[in-house]
Amino acid sequence: MSSQLQSSPSAQSIPSYLNRDDLGPWGNYLRQVDRVAPYLGSLSRWLETLKRPKRILVVDVPIELDNGTVAHFEGYRVQHNVSRGPGKGGVRYHQDVTLSEVMALSAWMSVKNAAVNVPYGGAKGGIRVDPRTLSRGELERVTRRYTSEIGLIIGPNTDIPAPDVNTNEQIMAWMMDTYSMNQGQTATGVVTGKPISLGGSLGRREATGRGVFVVGTEAARRVGLSIEGARIAVQGFGNVGGIAAHLFEEAGAKVIAVQDHTGSIFNPKGLDTAALLEHVAKQGGVGGFTGADPLNNDEFWTIETDILIPAALENQITEKNASKIKTKIIVEGANGPTTTAADDILHDKGILVIPDVVANAGGVTVSYFEWVQDFSSFFWTEDEINQRLERVMREAFNAVWQVSSENQVSMRTAAFIVACKRILMAREMRGLYP
Ligand code: GLU
Repeated sequence: MSSQLQSSPSAQSIPSYLNRDDLGPWGNYLRQVDRVAPYLGSLSRWLETLKRPKRILVVDVPIELDNGTVAHFEGYRVQHNVSRGPGKGGVRYHQDVTLSEVMALSAWMSVKNAAVNVPYGGAKGGIRVDPRTLSRGELERVTRRYTSEIGLIIGPNTDIPAPDVNTNEQIMAWMMDTYSMNQGQTATGVVTGKPISLGGSLGRREATGRGVFVVGTEAARRVGLSIEGARIAVQGFGNVGGIAAHLFEEAGAKVIAVQDHTGSIFNPKGLDTAALLEHVAKQGGVGGFTGADPLNNDEFWTIETDILIPAALENQITEKNASKIKTKIIVEGANGPTTTAADDILHDKGILVIPDVVANAGGVTVSYFEWVQDFSSFFWTEDEINQRLERVMREAFNAVWQVSSENQVSMRTAAFIVACKRILMAREMRGLYP
């Protein structure tokens, strides 16, 4: 038996279709859930529910490539839990997507949606494809075929996809159109993160980054750190990291280091985030940006900062680099960037970690606003949306902060306590059927 299994009391609930010796991100999620068990009282009777996704759909996505050959991609949609409402969560296109990853991401959506108290369960989807290798036509065909295949289980009242890594408004428009054509009627509420002209919401594109900024500011206030002059490092300069960095700079902070898949850059005086956003839009990454010096990728984690924002993929902060990190606050813009072993190291170093399930919940919060606006066919102003978003994020942060101080546990365990109680309470009230 591997040490990973020995260290996880969840061994008995590991599904037969995962590799027991390497559970991947799902193993990380199971260990996070196990930490919450002692705080759930009588609700812990239902905890096993959270260790098993409700429904998993794996689909073949065949398309004709521009060169006339046929290519097959593996697609997934996992509905982790629907006790509090329909499944909700993004769709990721990435060459390394695995079932374990989509399972973990769907579970983090359940926890996230409950942590900020939006009336959704958790779901997630993905296609194992590198979208950069596809032409626009191929991308559209992959998206439409995938949507048709998962059309069996998605819908405005059942499960509502949204953008995630490498998916965007255009892809949501194709998904909405495909689902609507199959249904014979336009169903704008089937996905969120749509273009404004198709029932999208103002402020949705910036919402995740804005949420990261709001909770980062709140965390700084709690530890007596001034945002004015604060040194920020960001991993990932897309929709989450790029927007968050820009908002921090506008508030007076200095963005001194940035890393993405094209390299790492450093400017101790603070770089110009507007210029970097423009550079990334044109070049596809931060590499080659002239307003900063290149930096070794490993060194990125050793730079002294006040706030570190991992906003790329999972498993970035691990046992290998956690002990070298010199920062005061980590705000998790990405989903699952920190392993449980790294969490313990950061905790011992006194670094405050604002977990993904709170920190990046701004995106799904405005997705919820979008869905509500679609159903009522009445659209709000950007100011209204941003104000409501800020309120939801602050309230969630404060509730989790309080549970964290009352129980002397990390913000992650506190967020899981708040969220799992909400989910399992709903589970208990509904009762088992039949
Ligand atoms: N993909 C985003 C997330 O991980 C947003 C999901 C949504 O809006 O449904 O939270």
